[in-house]
Amino acid sequence: MKIKYDKFGPEKIIQVYDPKTGMRGVTVIHNTNLGPGKGGIRMTPTVDVEEVYRLAETMTWKNALADIPFGGAKSGIIADDKKISQEEKDEIVAAFSKAIKEVTPELYIAGPDMNMAEHEMEIFANANGDKKSCTGKPAEMGGLPHELGSTGFGVYHSTLVAIEHLGLKHEEISVAIEGFGNVGTFLMKFLTEKGIKVVGVSDSKGTIYNKEGLDYDKLMKVKEESGSVINYEEGEKLESKDLLALDVEILIPAAIPDLITNENKDSIKAKIIPCGSNLPISEEIEEEFHKKGILVIPDFVANAGGVISSYVETIEGTPEKMFEIVEEKITANTLEMLERSKEKNIKPRDASMEIAKERVEARDKNV
Ligand code: NAD
Repeated sequence: MKIKYDKFGPEKIIQVYDPKTGMRGVTVIHNTNLGPGKGGIRMTPTVDVEEVYRLAETMTWKNALADIPFGGAKSGIIADDKKISQEEKDEIVAAFSKAIKEVTPELYIAGPDMNMAEHEMEIFANANGDKKSCTGKPAEMGGLPHELGSTGFGVYHSTLVAIEHLGLKHEEISVAIEGFGNVGTFLMKFLTEKGIKVVGVSDSKGTIYNKEGLDYDKLMKVKEESGSVINYEEGEKLESKDLLALDVEILIPAAIPDLITNENKDSIKAKIIPCGSNLPISEEIEEEFHKKGILVIPDFVANAGGVISSYVETIEGTPEKMFEIVEEKITANTLEMLERSKEKNIKPRDASMEIAKERVEARDKNV
């Protein structure tokens, strides 16, 4: 097992088993300097300690950079949810919740990840007996659902900061968005409301492009009624991959990982790439883009709206409060990253990692 122990952690690795339900799970609490470790629970047949450890460490930096009072943690339950009934799944989630009760919510706060959603978080909170033990609960239990669009709203604010940083004028900008799901739809809504033109949008079936701009309400209707953006009439239909090469100032990945590769990187014309999706671009390509003057806002800075929303859920905030805090934190964090990047001439990802590490070190409980 490749676990790297250093001054940051991991602080605790808890492996649990319940013979009655057959539940097997693991929670890794990587670092709690800034607050209880926060990270979702994933249920897959292959999840193991090493995978959970890597994700827990990532959460330490993501939460520190989001500037919320959470450390980093993650959980995994080893089960194939396609081979068990919902009832069995609920029993396993409840057994897992009881098994790690000792560390919640003081050292660990759970949330949904792969194959876990609102319903499972309700089961988790009820089995635990404390609503504060997890986020992602149904709205009736004080949850702040994804459908409010916190992530898209955060990516939008990160984009606005970058536009200002490069001194671009809203009316001269055109944007392409990869993916028209939870992140992509809200992103387009907020951008168009601000008067920024979205000219290209893709989904798994293709890309729709109109250099005069796409109409958000019409595109939503087309997507809902026909299942794809390509059925929007006033535009050119292209393949999904063609979105990358569109003549735009801003390209926003909001669907798949590894979108930008060595094969397609030279076709990109955009000057700003705020990453809505996770891992759409490798660090090496980010470095090349930095040298070429293309500004990449890394995923863990731009798409932190979701984790910030989780924090607002733990303080029992309203949706209005959530939007206010997401805007404030994402704007401040993006700005701090851009200033550090410029000052030291390092790529934004390196600047943001420096900031995250400094925040965690500044609160080192062992010093
Ligand atoms: P989603 O499932 O709601 O939507 C995904 C969209 O991507 C769909 O419109 C789908 O058609 C499209 N898509 C799939 N394959 C494509 C392809 N090859 N080309 C273009 N489009 C394609 O997902 P989401 O919640 O919007 O998440 C998108 C990304 O953002 C994921 O990487 C996710 O991990 C990341 N993310 C999401 C959140 C969140 O709160 N939803 C938070 C952080 C990061």
